[in-house]
Amino acid sequence: MIREILKFPHPILKTPTKKVDVIDDAVRGIIRDMFETMYHAEGVGLAANQIGIDLRIMVIDTTQKKESPPVKLALINPEMIEKEGSIKYKEGCLSFPGLVVEVERYSKVKVKALDEYGEEKIYTFEGFPAIVFQHEMDHLEGITFLDRVNGLKRRLALEKYSKLQKQR
Ligand SMILES: [Zn+2]
Repeated sequence: MIREILKFPHPILKTPTKKVDVIDDAVRGIIRDMFETMYHAEGVGLAANQIGIDLRIMVIDTTQKKESPPVKLALINPEMIEKEGSIKYKEGCLSFPGLVVEVERYSKVKVKALDEYGEEKIYTFEGFPAIVFQHEMDHLEGITFLDRVNGLKRRLALEKYSKLQKQR
């Protein structure tokens, strides 16, 4: 089922999400909806709180990005256990339609998470998938990409966003 994607400044986007205790069919149903909603919106990542669900779940699909190794995963209770390097990229966000903000991230991350069957997995993401992971990880902590830029850059992005909102 395609769910509504909540837009900034919805308060749930500023609230850290809760750990998933039991991975059951209900959780797998949420993951299915998250993939469907993400594809419908032509996104490459989605965090559960973006569709109003207060749980530490994200989905990523970077297979359309040809220059990086494809990643298509659901991550439950993800943790970043190692990080290195730095990379700048102009990011978009489904909760900020039309807005692009350049953000600096780690270029390589090692991640521990549960899969949709409750099994613990370790992944290494590099380049674009690493950027998407960190963007979604921020969502789960109640942080948006706007919180990653300061001063003038942030003010200009906010102005542009409110203009875009008025056009809609
Ligand atoms: Zn986002």
